[in-house]
Amino acid sequence: MLDAGLPVRAFFTARAGGTSAAPYESLNLATHVGDAPEAVARNRAAVSVVAGAPVSFLTAEHGIRVVEVTRPGQQPEPGDVVVTRTPGVALGAIAADCMPILLHDAVTGAVAAVHAGREGLRRGAVDSAVAALLDMRTPVQRRGRAGLSASIGPAICGRCYEVPLDLRDAVAARHPTARSATRAGTPALDLPRAAESRLGELGFTAVIRHRACTAEDPTLFSHRRDGVTGRHAGVIVCGVSVR
Ligand SMILES: [Zn+2]
Repeated sequence: MLDAGLPVRAFFTARAGGTSAAPYESLNLATHVGDAPEAVARNRAAVSVVAGAPVSFLTAEHGIRVVEVTRPGQQPEPGDVVVTRTPGVALGAIAADCMPILLHDAVTGAVAAVHAGREGLRRGAVDSAVAALLDMRTPVQRRGRAGLSASIGPAICGRCYEVPLDLRDAVAARHPTARSATRAGTPALDLPRAAESRLGELGFTAVIRHRACTAEDPTLFSHRRDGVTGRHAGVIVCGVSVR
């Protein structure tokens, strides 16, 4: 587990500590990748113990749909952003190369977990998540941006994420800082850099970015590197202060 560094309990999981067999070894949290359902259930239960509450994991669609959870353990509708302002609710976004992003608003206590990859970013997943968080403020509170913090979890880096030129340009049209190149000089995308800059533009003064690259770090799941594999997650708990 990697501490997300936010004011409430929030962390990113890695590969170790679970019960799944190869090629999902071992803390796979995704139900859609072919792993044994009972292994995934055990892994999710273990992560819920760390969270101190049953984690509501997103079922990602690679879009920008926002869903809300209002009670602990509630299964969210499919979407790529899940928000709550209910203390004791734990939210989870799973990924393996895409970014899990965790958001906290100290003004309202609301939290969000976001799954953001190339397609989500191109369609505005970060904007969508921030808008959902700000929607929970009163109009007066919404005039300011103080109190917003974010943590961007492990994802594929801008040197590893090679994409065709047209895909790079499509994402860079919305997020210029996503434009990158591989070590060999071919077109690539830097998703974490794009998310970090966009969060800054939207008024987040505290953005933590975990630099681990999923494709290069064998302690993390990487779909690009391994094909059939598991997924790790970013988890955030509403109302449980740690700092
Ligand atoms: Zn890399």
